[in-house]
Amino acid sequence: MRDLSVIIPIYNEEENISMLFSRLNSVVEKLGVDTEFIFINDGSRDHSLELILQLAGKHSNVRYIDFSRNFGHQIAVTAGLDKCDSKAAIIIDADLQDPPELIIDLYNTWKEGFEVVYAKRNARQGESFLKKFTARLFYRVLKKITSINIPVDTGDFRIIDRKVVMALRNMPEQQKFLRGQISWIGYKQTFVTYNRDSRHAGETGYTYKKMIRLALDGITSFSNLPLRFATLAGFFVSGITVVLSIYALYARLVSKEYVPGWTSLMLAVLFIGGVQLISIGIIGEYISRLSANVRNRPLYFVRDTNIPSS
Ligand code: UDP
Ligand code: MG
Repeated sequence: MRDLSVIIPIYNEEENISMLFSRLNSVVEKLGVDTEFIFINDGSRDHSLELILQLAGKHSNVRYIDFSRNFGHQIAVTAGLDKCDSKAAIIIDADLQDPPELIIDLYNTWKEGFEVVYAKRNARQGESFLKKFTARLFYRVLKKITSINIPVDTGDFRIIDRKVVMALRNMPEQQKFLRGQISWIGYKQTFVTYNRDSRHAGETGYTYKKMIRLALDGITSFSNLPLRFATLAGFFVSGITVVLSIYALYARLVSKEYVPGWTSLMLAVLFIGGVQLISIGIIGEYISRLSANVRNRPLYFVRDTNIPSS
């Protein structure tokens, strides 16, 4: 078994691959460990695949998995985790926002006996205010509403022990939110800090749509609080309705001081309607994920790979 696998999801990264590989290679040489690189081509529409194939032709420790289409970052990493064979695995972005040099720290901390060492960013460069703000907000909300401790301000850049890789392989859910799953798994976890660079070249493959989806996957996989919110909102609105009904009856029957109450009626109807729709929407988010898990489709299809199936 090898010492280390480096898992690299690739979506339109033609401008970054060669720089990434040379930096990774010098890091690994410095570490002096037996390493395999697993590139997952997640349906790139540029020349990423050709570059990966070239690397695989030159270096016997370069593996690749070519997806049948774009399945998304979390699924690409999952495929790498499914196929890696080593004592520890690194998950790293291809755009050099995760500095490969930090792998030395990650590896050495893992050697000290931690099963998970994640990279915690203490500064982020070259990302829009909105992206940073939404990420901050999301991690804090998630921490508040979930029972597990998902570390704030971390991505998937980390090293995980083989034990954790095996645990992940045994987690069958269709919605992958790896950073949540990994902290749920437990073992000894710690972090090292780094400054997050801006993208070396190219542009982000994480559209806001994909980010919202990831956020919803994270929340629904690890918290039932939104469902409880639907219930609580129901009680709250019902409470108000009871009070209002009593008042309405009192005004109509006792004090006889009633006006044609169009405004209050409209407000009540709109409010209750809004709460109902929100509640149905929340339930829908959970049901759609339930049904995906019931269908239990394969998470991805592979067009081509040089990893022998074991
Ligand atoms: N990525 C992927 N599939 C996607 C989107 C992104 O495999 O659908 C890869 C991408 O090539 C990169 C990593 O996931 O290696 C992180 O993506 P990106 O840098 O675009 O996200 P950001 O850093 O902007 O959150
Ligand atoms: Mg990036």
